[in-house]
Order: sequence, then structure tokens, then C-alpha cells
Amino acid sequence: MFIRDLSNPVERLKGIGKVSAAAYASMGVERVSDLITFFPRAYDDRTEVTSLADLPEEGGTINTVVSITAHSHYMVAKRERVLKITAKDLHSGRMLTLHCFGRAFMESAYPVGTSWFINASVTKYKGSWTSSSFTLGAKEEDVGLGSILPIYPLSGNLTQKTVRKNISSLLADRFVHFDDEIPSALIRKHGLMGTDEAIRQMHSPSSMAAQAKARESLAYAELLLMELDLLRQKGTGNKKEQKSKAGPLERKLMDSLPFKLTGDQLKCLDEIRQDLDRGQMQRLLQGDVGSGKTLVAWISALHVTAKGGQVAFMAPTELLARQHAEGAARLLEPLGIRVAFLTGDVKGKGRGYLLKALKEGQVDIAIGTHALFSKDVNYKSLSYVIIDEQHRFGVEQREALSQKGVKPSVLMMSATPIPRTLAMTVYGSMDVSTINEKPSGRKDIITHIVDERNRERMYQAVGVEFQRGHQAYFVYPRIDDEGDSNLKDVTSMHAVLKEKYPGVPSALIHSRLPEDEKMRILDEFREGRLMYLVSTSVVEVGIDIPQATCMVIEHAERFGLAALHQLRGRVGRSDLQSYCFLVYYGKLTDEAVERLKVMRETNDGFIIAEKDLQIRGPGDFMGSRQSGFLRLKAASLVNDTELMAKAREDAGEILREDPGLIGLDHGMLRTLLADPERH
Ligand code: ADP
Ligand code: MG
Repeated sequence: MFIRDLSNPVERLKGIGKVSAAAYASMGVERVSDLITFFPRAYDDRTEVTSLADLPEEGGTINTVVSITAHSHYMVAKRERVLKITAKDLHSGRMLTLHCFGRAFMESAYPVGTSWFINASVTKYKGSWTSSSFTLGAKEEDVGLGSILPIYPLSGNLTQKTVRKNISSLLADRFVHFDDEIPSALIRKHGLMGTDEAIRQMHSPSSMAAQAKARESLAYAELLLMELDLLRQKGTGNKKEQKSKAGPLERKLMDSLPFKLTGDQLKCLDEIRQDLDRGQMQRLLQGDVGSGKTLVAWISALHVTAKGGQVAFMAPTELLARQHAEGAARLLEPLGIRVAFLTGDVKGKGRGYLLKALKEGQVDIAIGTHALFSKDVNYKSLSYVIIDEQHRFGVEQREALSQKGVKPSVLMMSATPIPRTLAMTVYGSMDVSTINEKPSGRKDIITHIVDERNRERMYQAVGVEFQRGHQAYFVYPRIDDEGDSNLKDVTSMHAVLKEKYPGVPSALIHSRLPEDEKMRILDEFREGRLMYLVSTSVVEVGIDIPQATCMVIEHAERFGLAALHQLRGRVGRSDLQSYCFLVYYGKLTDEAVERLKVMRETNDGFIIAEKDLQIRGPGDFMGSRQSGFLRLKAASLVNDTELMAKAREDAGEILREDPGLIGLDHGMLRTLLADPERH
């Protein structure tokens, strides 16, 4: 059988009741097959003796033999008599005290003079080794000695003991035998373990080396299936290269710009236009902050409106939506395009009028937040949906929106580059267009790391920029759920800055200001009537003010790389030299040092994303389980890049020779890939 054939709910297994089943379910284990691939998070290797002499000062786990030297008692809470056993570790000769809470019977079970195998978790108390969590046994097996014990993630009422028992009794069933999931030729080629053996080695390894081999074998199989799936999805559809021309309005807009589009922008436009002409698009437009994605989106929107289609442009926040709406009005209304702005805040009569216009096709481009896809919003002919900063939207939202049109084309834009190693996996069948090239004349932002105690020079440097008529942002981290203290921080920082820069107009902007107020402040900033903004990280995404050249980030050590990169991307948006100051407080953790260094050394969002992946792991790139591929159990997208490359190569070879996977040795691949559970 294949693992997935064990599709019964775990509750059907002996020893698993409703409560345990719920606990398993909370960890994603619902079927028996899930339990089979519910792999340990760690192992307790008891194959070798660990005596008290082997422990570090702070203690740890011992696997050794002790002889009982004395019994005594003491009282806790005046009522409970606790047995205390003194024992000698025969491997090190050191003494150990065992506290037997609620286990008075042990006095007769373990008499003075007898010897036992022991596994104990030990700490030092007042200079001597003590334990209250231990197992004594007459045989090695009784205490797990000589074996490697799996340690599983736990939840609810589950204990290690239960999980171990549930899994081992399942594997002990003589009808349970797993067929290999990949061709035997590949198993031989890479010297892998068969599926059945690998599964068993994962749950109860004969050695840690065998476990490593088992994991590699299972990981390879997962990756091979994933790569096959991806390659097959890519391969179908057989896209014919057809020249697709920019329409007159698109050309008119491009000609009206004070600059030329970059080669990458043109290339991406071309790719998008082809999709639009074909009437099917699931495309990601990725490009670093400030690379000119939004402009590409507007031009491509004209391609759709020219044919009478409607376009919806969705931004993650109201602030950004409004900025985009204003930008679109400036750029597109002169061309006769009817632009509308819709958020949850648009209410009453205005809303009714707007909804009617959308429904009757009197609006060409609707710009807004996810309110664009509320229940009461209907479109006459929605055929193109553009999503800015797509990583901020959940999968469900994206799906809700796709249901508004007759299968609209979807363009997602992201300034959070996905590391190349992950892009294919995260985006699955989506096509990707990338803008690597920055608009000409852009200079790398110079980044300084500043100890907050030495901030004077930084203030001077920013002051010089003010004299040149350039603007600045001062950012404080937004710390969720911490009430008003955050606001106090920005407020007091603003007071300090006002003293530093007397007479320089500035404003405080934070998430709790009303939207209108935020917009007014940003408008004044854009017009140069304000020289600097002090803010919580509301400026993080999308805000586009070319004259701003300084970004000061306070408590930079608290931000992740992606956020730092996004924030820094608010400057360097013209041909002016820009600066970023990363101000840190106190002693930095190694990880923080690493992050800040990465920021200083590169401006390249892709490199930053790769580093971020190395430092943090892939979880955050994935969001919540976005697709079946991400349900990898044994493989790690971070650490198994080499294995992934092998798998990709093998997958390519298999599909070249046998695109339909009809060869005898490929039958199981075909079956597994056809399983809807995988998608
Ligand atoms: P993104 O959405 O990728 O962060 P934007 O589209 O907001 O970037 O563009 C950033 C700024 O650069 C905008 O002010 C835009 O007008 C300008 N811009 C876009 N393309 C070019 C280009 N080819 N040359 C010069 N400036 C450009
Ligand atoms: Mg943008």
C-alpha cells in the first residue's frame, strides 16, 4: 500500500479516542496516513551511557546505572510525606538525590543496596545533583536504554508515551507495509532507503545515521513528486509566443512619461499583455521596492479597458489604496479612463452611486482595499484583477475576488522577493515576471548602523539633507498589543527631533490617526510642506515620495529583514543619493547583528530574501499552508536545496522520456500525482 491509502480517521485506531483525536487534529494529524508521516521533532539517543560526569553545569539527561544507598523522608506543605532516595551513579561514582513525589511505594520497590538502570532529567540544587523526573528499571528496555526514543510534537492531552504507543502499534500491524513511492531505479541511483524501511527508521531509528538516511530518502521522494507536479503544470497549456501589441492608449501613456520604461518593465508588460490577450493569467509581478511595478500595472490595465473590460486594483491598506487612486487619477484620467475609489469607509449615498456605476460599467478601474470584493459589490465586466503587495492577503481573500469576474486575469505584485529556490514552490503554477533592473540613475542607498548612544552625527547628517531640501522619515517599530506606550515613544521622539531641528516643519503619523488625517499629512509631505515624518511603521509599504532621502529606523534590531528592506525602500526612489540609518539599542543578539550587516552590505532584495530564509526558515514565506506542496513532512525547503536540485533534474529527465508517466516504473508516480489531496 501507499501511505496515503491509510485514509481512515485516526479515531478508528485502537487507543485513540475523541479527545486524543482532537489533539492530533490540532497538529494536522487527521488520518492514519498523517500519523504515519507525523515525524519526531527530535530524538533521545539512549544508545550510549551518559553519566553524571558527562553533564554540563546546568544539568541534562542521564542514562546510567545507580545503586540505592539510602532512603529518607521530608514533609511538604506540612501534610505530604515525600520519599527521598539517595543513589550512587556507578559510572561516575557521583551521588544523586531522587525526590519521589507521590510515589511512597518506591521505598519498598527499590530497597537500599539494589542496582537499577536509570534515565533521569537532572539538575543541580544547592551544589548536588537532584531529579524528580526519572525512570528506574531492572532491564535496559524498561528505561529505554539502548534505544533511540522519538520525541514528537505534543498537543492537548497527548504525552510522548501515548504518541509513541499509537504509532508503534500501528507500525506493528503485520498488514502495514508501504510500497515505494518512487521508481526503484532512482532509489538505486541515489542509494536511498525504500519507503517502508525509511518510515520505520524515522519512528524508531536503529542509529542516528540510519535516521538521517531515512529522512533523506523520504525527503527526496517528496521533492521528486513536488518537482514533477510543478513541471507538469508548467508544461501544459503550451503557450504559443504571439506578438502582442500595445494599444494606442498604452503608447500614449508611455510617451507622456518624463522617463523611459526600463527594459525589464517593457519585458514584463509584454508578458502580461500576452496573458491578457490569451484571456488567462495567474501571474506574479515581482520587483524590488521602487522598481516601478505600479506603473507597469497601470499600463497593462489600459490594455483591458480598451476592450471594454473592467479592472480592479486592490491594495492592502486604505492609505495605499488612496495613494494609488490619486496616482491613477493623475495618470489615467487625462486619457479618458474613469477611475473610482472604494473602501469600507465609503458609505451611504456615495457608496450606492459607486456600486451602481460599477455594476453598469460606468467605471473602468476600481481602486480600493479588499472592500472591492465585498458581497454587495458587483461588476459589469470585471476581467482583470491587480493585487498590490499580494503577500499581505490571505488565500481566501484572493479566492473571493476571483469569483467576482468570469475568471478574471490576476496579476499579483510583490516587493517581497521570494528567494529563487522557493519561488517555484511557493507560487506553484503561477507565472512569474521579474523586474530586476532599477530605473536608470538610481543610486544604492547608503546604510549606516548606529548605536543609539552615538546618534548625534546621524542627526547632523539628516540636518544637512534638510538644508538641501530633501526629506526624511523617522520610524519607530510598531509593537503589537502594547497599548499606548508605543505612541508615547513616537511622541517623545518627535519632541526630541523638534528640539534638534527647530523651525523644520514635521508631523507625527501613526496607525490610530483617522484616515483623512493621514492622507492630509502625506499630501503635505509630498508637496514639501513637511520636511520629516515621525511614524510607527505605517510608512512600511508602498508610499512613494521621491524627494525623501533619509530613513532613520529606531530599534532596528527589532525588525525582521523583510520589514527593514521595505522601510528602507521608502527612500532611494529618485536619482538623489539616499541614506538609511539603522539605530539599535543595547546589546545585539547574534541574529540581530547578522540582519543589520546584511542590510548594510546589500540593497538587493533577492539577496536579502535569501539571507532571511537562511536566518529564519521558510515559514514566513509560505503564509499558512498555501498549497499541497508545502505539506512536506520530511523535506526542508531551506536545508535540502541540493536534494531539491537533484529531484528537479530527475523530474525533468523522467518527463522528457515519459511525459504521460505511462511507463511501468512510473505508474505509482502517476497515481500519486493524480491524488487531489496533493493540491
Ligand atoms: P514599486 O511599485 O515597484 O515599488 P513604483 O511603481 O511605485 O514602484 O515606482 C517608484 C517610483 O519610480 C515612482 O515614482 C514611479 O513613477 C517611478 N518610476 C517608475 N518607473 C520608472 C522608470 N522607468 N524610470 C524612472 N522612474 C520610474
Ligand atoms: Mg508599490
